[in-house]
Amino acid sequence: MREALSRLLLGDDVRQRLRVSQALLVLTVYVVFAMVQHAEVLLDMIDTRHSWALTTWNLAGGFGFYLCIRSGLNLRLKSGRSLAIPQSAWAMVGIAWSYAITGAARGAVILIMILVVVFTMFELTPQKARAAAGTAFAMLALTMAYKAWTDPLRYDPRVEAMHGLFSGIVLTASYVLAVRIGRLRARLVEQRTSLEQQSAKLTEALERIRTLATRDELTGLPNRRAAMEHMQRELAVRARPEPMMTVALIDIDHFKRINDTHGHAGGDTVLRRLSEEAQSVMRDGDILARWGGEEFLLVMPATGVGQALTALRRIRSTILALSFDEVAPGMKVTFSAGASECLGAHDLEAAIARADAAMYSAKRAGRDRITAFEEAVTP
Ligand code: GH3
Ligand code: MG
Ligand code: MG
Repeated sequence: MREALSRLLLGDDVRQRLRVSQALLVLTVYVVFAMVQHAEVLLDMIDTRHSWALTTWNLAGGFGFYLCIRSGLNLRLKSGRSLAIPQSAWAMVGIAWSYAITGAARGAVILIMILVVVFTMFELTPQKARAAAGTAFAMLALTMAYKAWTDPLRYDPRVEAMHGLFSGIVLTASYVLAVRIGRLRARLVEQRTSLEQQSAKLTEALERIRTLATRDELTGLPNRRAAMEHMQRELAVRARPEPMMTVALIDIDHFKRINDTHGHAGGDTVLRRLSEEAQSVMRDGDILARWGGEEFLLVMPATGVGQALTALRRIRSTILALSFDEVAPGMKVTFSAGASECLGAHDLEAAIARADAAMYSAKRAGRDRITAFEEAVTP
């Protein structure tokens, strides 16, 4: 119920809510002001016709500005969307007018003028708030002078002089406060902006650290740590469907020779090219990681050794078909690989060790081949 009423009065636009509620507050002040003024009419302090004219001005302004903002008409403006300047100008005219017709109780009207300056503090820059306070004072002073001149019996010039003096003091003081609040607001905005910038930088740095920590710099492949994490995640989500995962270690044959013949940069090119080409024929969900040096780890989740060997053979024939012309015309590269099925999270380290053993037996058997662990252990 309260929610619905607040929606009806304030609307849905969050950017506008503060402005709409401010305009509603101003309208409420106008209504209360009109009631007080009506009491003054009943007490015979103000002329009825004058009172109705002023009430019309005030309520028309209050409703008009509220509707303008509530309907979103103010959003068509490029700046000054809070309508603080026209709203306060409207109010100041009303207050000066009220001062002119209120007679004996007019001293209280000065308080209302201060209220307007206080309202502008939240919306305007210090310069504009100063202009608002100055205008408020000028309007009051002119009204006082005019009334003292034309109606000296009701508006005793000595009283007007005192009212003018006090208005000047109080409006100056409220202007000083407005400037302080303005500075405070500016500082808050500055702090928030700098906090936002810092947090953006931090996010970027964290992202970079994450990349550095999980990627191999040369090949862009996941590194050893990332591969371990990936395998542990895979094994954790798999509630023992058979098979669970096969891991394979791939080691380039005679890589030292490549380095020696074509330089370290040539070796690097081979590593990069080989990882790209291998990835291009891998199944989605499998990952290739740089295990270290010229060794790669191939992780094949939910894959048995048989299927894994097929995948490795596909990679092998792809690499065999390549010639690394950018290193040396017609250059060929081979690798040896060992694969082993992993039986669960508890078996991960052991499975990698078995794949390593299988890979070494492939080396011993003459290189350029793929071995599964079972074959490696059977004598
Ligand atoms: P094998 O067939 O027995 O595997 O012979 P190999 O020459 O490949 O033997 P080994 O594994 O001992 O040699 C690996 C070499 O790889 C040694 C090291 O200098 C080189 N290496 C390791 N990391 C890098 C790298 O990032 N870039 C280059 N270019 N070479 C590397
Ligand atoms: Mg090697
Ligand atoms: Mg090696």
